[in-house]
Amino acid sequence: MNYYSLNNPDTFVDFKEATIRGQAPDKGLYFPERIPPIPAGLLRDLKTLPREDLAFRIIRPYVGNTLPESDLHRIVAETINFDFPLVPVIPSNASPADTTIFSLELFHGPTLAFKDVGARFMSRCLAYFVRNNTRPVTVLVATSGDTGGAVASGFYDIPGIRVVILYPSGKVSSVQELQLTTLGKNITALEVDGSFDDCQRMVKEAFADPTVNNALFLTSANSINVARWLPQQFYYFFALQQWQLETPPVISVPSGNFGNICAGLLAHRSGLPVRHFIAACNTNDIVPAYLRTGDYRPKPAVPTLSNAMDVGNPSNFVRILELFHQQLPDPGKTRFPFPDLHETLSAVSISDPETIDSIGDLDTRCHYLADPHGAVGCLALQRYLNQHPGEKGFFLETAHPVKFYDTVEPIIGRKIPLPASVATLLDKKKRSQKLAPQYDELKDYLLS
Ligand SMILES: *Cc1c(COP(=O)(O)O)cnc(C)c1O
Repeated sequence: MNYYSLNNPDTFVDFKEATIRGQAPDKGLYFPERIPPIPAGLLRDLKTLPREDLAFRIIRPYVGNTLPESDLHRIVAETINFDFPLVPVIPSNASPADTTIFSLELFHGPTLAFKDVGARFMSRCLAYFVRNNTRPVTVLVATSGDTGGAVASGFYDIPGIRVVILYPSGKVSSVQELQLTTLGKNITALEVDGSFDDCQRMVKEAFADPTVNNALFLTSANSINVARWLPQQFYYFFALQQWQLETPPVISVPSGNFGNICAGLLAHRSGLPVRHFIAACNTNDIVPAYLRTGDYRPKPAVPTLSNAMDVGNPSNFVRILELFHQQLPDPGKTRFPFPDLHETLSAVSISDPETIDSIGDLDTRCHYLADPHGAVGCLALQRYLNQHPGEKGFFLETAHPVKFYDTVEPIIGRKIPLPASVATLLDKKKRSQKLAPQYDELKDYLLS
């Protein structure tokens, strides 16, 4: 399998090169040259296939011959060695048989958010690809919260790789901060006295700086990397393994940079039976507005309670358009998406007050504890199902509510019990190096 750049369909790289580079030299996102259909036998045996075999068979064509089968098998097994339960969300006055909404819980991994899957897969692929490098590899990444912890945990203690994470001081939740500052060893956290945008700008400058790139073998663990994007298909298949109902599900995905939902749409395009996808956004409504008006207008991100979705220019949306053979409108013009896109995908925007109501309602009416991102996804699904009676579906619960306890606890009026992994974190000592939001400071650190 080869990958082309969305900015230039004529240059190809294999999976290894796409993983190491992250982004094409022309700044385009990599996209697979073809979408392998799911073999009929695999769909027939879906419910009985062991999860590891299923995941292996899905990702195999995308990896091609860049990884030996035995290594890929090990990597896949290590990537998904935790649970992905599909849990019914049942109003207390209803019977379980009438359940219309389920929650696909993606927070049972080491850092309690779905990004563990992509980060674990990518870190292991990269470790394999650079195993014979004589120079150590530096993975440089900016995080608004969840990416940092997942990447740190994924790369922890991997020989030959050092990880440098930039995060905005005071702008990530306390659990998120502990996850990325307490590991030590080959992981360094740089606490930037600025915003996420500052962190991202500094990282971009480092990648564009010849001095730094001559001195170091620099790579990124950005969410647009194909090795993070593609394995996110796995849990859509795991959900369908657990789906007992006759008609295919409607799937609601809390969306920010649109990588997660794009992986679901890719799985659907290769044959996974899904009725409809909903991109559930917060106030940052660039995509919902585009689907309504044909006018694609990126804008600075607005901070919300579901902060992992505070994205003002969702990078992966162009991949979704590519799946439907469409393109963004030219600047200043409008272009309505084709009907087949509307049939498969709708997008809605949920406000912070609605998110708070959704968390409270799920807690009191269904005894289900949701995090702010899952609550956005659930409300979007409820609204869709109200307009489409007879359909059923699930939302992706993308993070454990404890990661956002500062938001959730005041709404539900009680403490959230700490999972063991968080309880041990709280005893650890935060280690970070403070940095002013200037590129020279990062450069000095990297070259020191
Ligand atoms: C990153 C993240 C999202 C958004 O996922 P995208 O792939 O960027 O759309 C949603 N919820 C949580 C908890 C996240 O960490």
